[in-house]
Amino acid sequence: MKLEDFPEHIQPYLIPRVSAEVVYRCLGCNAQYGIDELLYTCPSCGSVLLLEDLTFDRLTQIAPELWHQILDYRRMLNLPALRGIYRYHEFIGPVIPLNAVVYLGEGHTPMVEANRHLQELTGVRFCFKNDGQNPSASFKDRGMASALSYINFLVQSAKLPEVLAVCASTGDTSASAALYAAYLQPQVKSAVLLPHGKVTPQQLSQPLGSGARVFEIPGVFDDSMKVVEALSERFAVALLNSKNAWRIWGQESYAYEIVQDFDYDMNHKVVVVPIGNAGNITAVLSGFLKFFNAGLIKCLPKIVGVQSTHANPVYRYYLEPDRKKRNFEPVTVRPSVAQAAMIGNPVSMPRVVELVEAYNDKAGRQSVFFAEVEEQDIMDWQLTANRNGHIACTQGGESLAGMVAAKKRGIISDDDLVILDATAHALKFAGFQDMYFEDRFAPEFEIVPRESLKNFPRLVRAQGVRAFPSPEKPLTGQAFDDFVQKTAEAIAEALNLKPLSRNG
Ligand SMILES: *Cc1c(COP(=O)(O)O)cnc(C)c1O
Ligand SMILES: [Zn+2]
Repeated sequence: MKLEDFPEHIQPYLIPRVSAEVVYRCLGCNAQYGIDELLYTCPSCGSVLLLEDLTFDRLTQIAPELWHQILDYRRMLNLPALRGIYRYHEFIGPVIPLNAVVYLGEGHTPMVEANRHLQELTGVRFCFKNDGQNPSASFKDRGMASALSYINFLVQSAKLPEVLAVCASTGDTSASAALYAAYLQPQVKSAVLLPHGKVTPQQLSQPLGSGARVFEIPGVFDDSMKVVEALSERFAVALLNSKNAWRIWGQESYAYEIVQDFDYDMNHKVVVVPIGNAGNITAVLSGFLKFFNAGLIKCLPKIVGVQSTHANPVYRYYLEPDRKKRNFEPVTVRPSVAQAAMIGNPVSMPRVVELVEAYNDKAGRQSVFFAEVEEQDIMDWQLTANRNGHIACTQGGESLAGMVAAKKRGIISDDDLVILDATAHALKFAGFQDMYFEDRFAPEFEIVPRESLKNFPRLVRAQGVRAFPSPEKPLTGQAFDDFVQKTAEAIAEALNLKPLSRNG
């Protein structure tokens, strides 16, 4: 719809203005820093940062009902810069001019309700929100759209001449970083560091295809992360890991979309997310809190963060109920099918600690929970979901397994509706499905495939066929007819098909 065709009272608000004062705030010493330069940790105490809008109160000047109309009408606006995460520009990018926005089709991913069979099986009403339907097939694109739009803004305003963007990754961050950086050629180039043998072949192919420089590093993700941190401390590079606070802002869009998709009613809603480096849960908590503080929602949904028993530092931290006695200890990870979340020392832990407290305080009761799941449950639930029409990755399976665990613990009640974060597309993790079907998991995974979930292709070479076609030797005439008929009969027999009755 064209601007002049929108109701008059909405027109002044449809195109957001650049009008805010944003700073980095240190979670360790509370110091504030300007955003004119790229900053990832506090120069004085070394702690992680979050972006803060010092002019946030201006958002509360707009009545909640008007906000709802502004955001809903924006859905009809054909302006590329506002089609993705920046529909929520005032909340996540108020300093970024629209002509600097990089839009590659991210965000506004579908919410798909589970079928009756799955809802009966779990005893829970739930949906998947499929973030695997982002351009690089994971939710990381939300944060990259934000980080690269900001870098593009710096480049355009000549505050940065050219940029080498770097990241360490369990696979999806590098796929996304390489994609968005490739779009900003030649001013922006990218290099990615991957733990050798710890990303899937599909994830490895993505940054290679986008033309990034790809380095494989011995060890696990936490080791690659240390190397990339050393790089960013000593050399002129732009760090694209979720340490970069701009990533968090972009990823808040996931929470805003849920709110908008439920017409701003968060009553009896529960959102379940897998936790790796803890950037995603940070963004989800922060997003719901901002909408609550600006009055767009009247209550906060429950949040459940899920970890595998093989990589569970956040879960372990919150086992201690007394917040003063809690003590964070990194864990040594063991192999996990939720490989994108296989992280023992999450960079965003200080952000989680601060936001969980703020969230529970605002909600007036405990509203953030943590669940732990077995590798076996992750695989079984992922495969079960996908046999019922979903496209969940292993981390999506982790969300579903976490929901089942939370239901057992009474965290989810009968009148709750649960939204599960399927963080990537199933195809990225097809190798784990193969290992399950072929019973090839190394013992460390502790996964025993269930026969009922296995599936195999079956080569059909029907009995009595005289010749089979091949690319070099296609069949013709009688031989071809013989092949077609006998093969069809063999398949009919395997499927136990009944012949058509010809009594017409
Ligand atoms: C990165 C990633 C996660 C973990 O998210 P964090 O922000 O690191 O906690 C989960 N699932 C997938 C598919 C990912 O790519
Ligand atoms: Zn500090």
